[in-house]
Amino acid sequence: MLETRTHCPYCAFQCGIRITGSAKAPVVSGDPDFPVNRGRLCAKGFTAAATLSHPERLTTPLARDVSGNLVPVSWNAALDRVEAGIRAVQEAYGADAVGVFGSGALTNEKTYLLGKFARVALRTASIDYNGRFCMSSAAAASNRAFGIDRGLPFPIADLARADVVLIAGGNPAETMPPLMQYIDELRARGGKLIVVDPRRTATAESASHHLAVTPGTDAVLALGLIHLLIRERLADADYIARRTEGFDRIRTLVAAYWPGRVERITGIPEATLLEVATILGRAGSVTVLTGRGPEQQAQGVNNASAYLNLALVLGAPGKPSSGYGCLTGQGNGQGGREHGQKADQLPGYRDIRDPAARRHMAEVWNVTEESIPTAGLSAQEMLEKLGQDDGVRALLVFGSNPVVSAADALTIDRGLRSLHLLVVSDFFLSETARLADVVLPSAQWAEEEGTMTNLEGRVIHRRQAFTPPDGVKTDLEILSLIAERLGHKERFTYGSPAEVFDELRRATAGSRADYSGITYDRLDRENGVHWPCPSQIHPGTPVMFAERFNTPDGRARFLGDPHLPAAEEPDEDFPLYLTTGRLLAHYQTGTQTRRVPQLDRMAPRPTAQMHPLTARRFGVADGADLVLTTRRGSAHFRAEVTPRLRQDTVFVPFHWGGAESANRLTNAALDPISRMPEFKVCAVRIESTTESGGLT
Ligand code: SF4
Repeated sequence: MLETRTHCPYCAFQCGIRITGSAKAPVVSGDPDFPVNRGRLCAKGFTAAATLSHPERLTTPLARDVSGNLVPVSWNAALDRVEAGIRAVQEAYGADAVGVFGSGALTNEKTYLLGKFARVALRTASIDYNGRFCMSSAAAASNRAFGIDRGLPFPIADLARADVVLIAGGNPAETMPPLMQYIDELRARGGKLIVVDPRRTATAESASHHLAVTPGTDAVLALGLIHLLIRERLADADYIARRTEGFDRIRTLVAAYWPGRVERITGIPEATLLEVATILGRAGSVTVLTGRGPEQQAQGVNNASAYLNLALVLGAPGKPSSGYGCLTGQGNGQGGREHGQKADQLPGYRDIRDPAARRHMAEVWNVTEESIPTAGLSAQEMLEKLGQDDGVRALLVFGSNPVVSAADALTIDRGLRSLHLLVVSDFFLSETARLADVVLPSAQWAEEEGTMTNLEGRVIHRRQAFTPPDGVKTDLEILSLIAERLGHKERFTYGSPAEVFDELRRATAGSRADYSGITYDRLDRENGVHWPCPSQIHPGTPVMFAERFNTPDGRARFLGDPHLPAAEEPDEDFPLYLTTGRLLAHYQTGTQTRRVPQLDRMAPRPTAQMHPLTARRFGVADGADLVLTTRRGSAHFRAEVTPRLRQDTVFVPFHWGGAESANRLTNAALDPISRMPEFKVCAVRIESTTESGGLT
């Protein structure tokens, strides 16, 4: 039976999988020869093929008719509508009035072509993507301190060889379970796992120390640990002197974070702080990882910087089995943030405002420098202005479901409904696609070829296992067809994804994320290649910073400001913290996983987790239906009473839309640098509850 080695469509672990059988009856197993997951998969990976022949699969374009219904139309009719809408909006309101919204799930080829499509075919500055909601704070912190952003600047297998791993606000035991094999190895060697999280997650369960911080106080904890490391003479003074810059500034900053104050703000006892600081300071090798917990806040960059500073004080980055990294979330969250779908970015992490970068891309794209637009608005800002005088009037969405994934979702819902034209390319009728004027049915992961870049910067080959169903096109084909209608056929004609990748290689040559030495053949031969890889004889770069950081003087920077409270704290009207996150069974907005019967059975609807004492205080019974309300809106959940949470905090997952959407509640306060919304902290109240369903 024919077997294809490819990769899971979901998270940034990008597990290697093997597929046999047919598109209608595919058989999936873990790939034991792929060195990242080493044969293991989670429930999402094992069931990934269920979406390929799903009965709700879109196989024909849809367009809204005069009665307001989405009805099947031909590709020609759909593309006529798209072309006419784009032309009308740009004539009436200017080029930037047409926006493009991309995704960290797209392959590198699609990411690259989407950025080119926006700048060359649409000439719009209005492009951003859902990775802004995912990785942008950690990316900004790494760029500022290291001069480059690669989620893990070391192979994931290094975790097993560390003495201590500290994870702040990440839950890989549920979000990427195969990662835990490395933590298991670490613990078997006598190493320690320390977890910082307001919830006692599955990951925290396996930790030697769980620090259940007050939501929104992550930076305080890190600064307090640095304070203790300096006080106890456990900071790595030699490393700090040789490899860093700006330590005096941080020493002054952390002087204000003495243990008693840190205990008052974070809720972590002084004795625990000292014990953890001592474990970290005495360990031979420490790895500090951040997840979305500290990053998805209005001070996400400052939070990530605080943990990065902690790693620097310990002398970790660049040393064997040590370092700082972030746990990238989306499947191509790494490559998706490198190749030009961000509002201020050209391929290879080049800055769109940099004249040299513009010159380089003008040459690759065969356009004039002046024709390349400048920086546009970040994702949340672009979405909040939809339909407004100075906002986007027509939006093209690829691989994303922003009406569920953006903060303050009711505002985004109103904006999407006010557009002159909304075009969505997807393979299911997602909540955003339901609002569209035109829906374009696109191919799925196993039906097209491309490359992804996993959480450790390893570029991998996602091979095609099956041909797409009749009536379905790939996103690369869709972008080329629209570009052709807009008069740019010669710049958007490609024979294959490999040809797009070859152009991406030229585009990134000489950049920070240099892919120029990577070919599909190499990816197949070498089980992936870590960027930067500037030539075909370069081996790739699994480990970064061993000698120097990517800053002009080769030193890492200590950067950071005093902690500020969350944009919204609990008060009399909204007495509890609300925090959000993911579940084992589902991925992102659930467009795929909610349609997989096995996963749906594991988590058929969202629950609001709260401590038994909180439940008693507010009269909530386990299993009761309840309505949560914040200053943005209300949403419905089933109560899950569990001792795994702090008494001041309610947790809800964000995989559902409509009345069950967690993001109807979340706060769109933005980080000043990354423009990340504050998904992880806001104030909430329990509005009403009933044990039998229905609302009181
Ligand atoms: Fe692996 Fe992530 Fe897919 Fe699970 S969802 S199988 S961890 S890539």
